[in-house]
Amino acid sequence: MNREFYGKVIIEGEIEALTGLHIGAQRDTSEIGGIDNPVIKDPHTGLPYIPGSSLKGRLRSLFEIYVNSKLDELKDQYKGLKNYMKGSCREIGKENCGRFFNRELHNVWIHVCNTYEEARNCPVCRLFGASGKESNFPSRVIVRDAFLTEEWKEKWRKGEEITEAKMEVGIDRITSQANPRTTERVVAGAKFNFEIIYTVEDLNEVEDDLRHLLMSMLLLEDSYLGGSGSRGYGKVKFHIKRIAFKPREFYETGDEGKIKSTKQYKSVQELLNNINDVVSLIKPQGG
Ligand SMILES: [Zn+2]
Repeated sequence: MNREFYGKVIIEGEIEALTGLHIGAQRDTSEIGGIDNPVIKDPHTGLPYIPGSSLKGRLRSLFEIYVNSKLDELKDQYKGLKNYMKGSCREIGKENCGRFFNRELHNVWIHVCNTYEEARNCPVCRLFGASGKESNFPSRVIVRDAFLTEEWKEKWRKGEEITEAKMEVGIDRITSQANPRTTERVVAGAKFNFEIIYTVEDLNEVEDDLRHLLMSMLLLEDSYLGGSGSRGYGKVKFHIKRIAFKPREFYETGDEGKIKSTKQYKSVQELLNNINDVVSLIKPQGG
């Protein structure tokens, strides 16, 4: 199928960690006296960051749960969903069992459409992409890695602690022995610059896709990012600084005058509530 290109919507701002944030790194062979569970850090600066893949994966996963919960209602609108029943193939232990969560990835069951055509007509896969068993559908959403803001880099240069080690006592289920471990987390209050880019490929689907993206961000604010969410880690808040539409003509000419922005909406909620402002940047006639 033919893919069109109308331009890109750029959402920029800051993510604030309202509670300690733990996005784990691949563990090194643990050194004596070291931290058992370090956070992921930028190898160039040694500073913690939020990998775009972690953020995108979390947004996708929250949206998948939403779609699964409304699957039967959504089937009329999205014909790619007609191939699925509610639920997960986890219970059956076999991928592509016919249920919505059809693929196993690192012990987690996720949803991925198997063909381009199916993904094209699925609200999850057309937005976040699908690496199908038969063919792929490239993601319309790009989530950049989020690095600390200048303000927080400055705090770090002045010697402030950006991460803290938290002792947690797990109980070994077999021996009942206490097993203290230290988990590193980014301190509450830390801020990271984020950038999310949405590629406009179908004018009839823009509003839906953007609603779904913003809804996922809103869901994340009332969920958690990273590990130990049930212990209270990972509450985050998006502060939006700019939402802009860069039409195809901008890329053709490099003329900044072609870029259009909405008035400033500071929160995801406010932006979602005024989604027509964004849509009208892309479709000026409102049609
Ligand atoms: Zn899908």
